Amino acid sequence: MPATPELSPDEIARFGADPAAAFATNLKLVRDRIAATCRRCGRSPDDVHLLPVTKTVPANVLRLAYAAGISEFGENKLQEARDKQAIFADLPIRWSIIGHLQTNKVKYLVKLATEFHALDSLRLADELNRRLDAEGRDLDVFVQVNTSGEASKYGLAPGDLVPFARRLSEYPRLKPRGLMTLAIFSTETERVRRCFRLLRNLRDHAMAVHSDLTQLSMGMSGDFETAIEEGATVVRVGQAIFGARPTSDRHYWPDANFGS
Ligand SMILES: *Cc1c(COP(=O)(O)O)cnc(C)c1O
Repeated sequence: MPATPELSPDEIARFGADPAAAFATNLKLVRDRIAATCRRCGRSPDDVHLLPVTKTVPANVLRLAYAAGISEFGENKLQEARDKQAIFADLPIRWSIIGHLQTNKVKYLVKLATEFHALDSLRLADELNRRLDAEGRDLDVFVQVNTSGEASKYGLAPGDLVPFARRLSEYPRLKPRGLMTLAIFSTETERVRRCFRLLRNLRDHAMAVHSDLTQLSMGMSGDFETAIEEGATVVRVGQAIFGARPTSDRHYWPDANFGS
């Protein structure tokens, strides 16, 4: 067992005095909500994978998350993932890179990631395949699609997906698993739902040209129930488990159970 890490005053302010207990409680709340949503729409909870998003959670606090049963870490920045991986080299963590990747970071990704959720160009596919081949390994990938049409979001335009999917077999080290999207950030559920529904429809088209593109990585703390209703098979949840990110400019999530 790792020793209990010291928490700084800032960390106690953010995560409470007993983060492991808070994470375990929040994790159970999220799992219960996933199960309730699945029951409501006739799906099995076993068909929805919860990917904990650990970005911005400091490594010493993450040790407590690991103790609370979280062994898959979703990170959006390669440098942060690398720093953490160096610290967690002693633990069997599964690393998912969920954020946009610059081609010059691919060499780092292939050394640590089990899975990549933000494939959005052939140039990136080519570089990933080349570096993976040099490492002698494969990588599970999700193709990111911009379903909201917002200029601020990464991902393929919906109309570019099928031609893109057709080319994926040229990169044998990439194991396409499905599609990923970030919905529009809105309090209007129907606008959010339209993004998820679009991804599901696109998945059905993409599967016709690449039969392994079965999964739908969609839904975050603020919208994962809607995503599950629309067919999500992976939900990427950070703040509902780890509490609000202080630096976040969006997705404030007030319901997590902290510091009481
Ligand atoms: C941060 C992030 C999430 C999780 O968002 P929360 O609001 O913390 O649940 C999911 N997906 C991506 C790509 C992210 O960057």
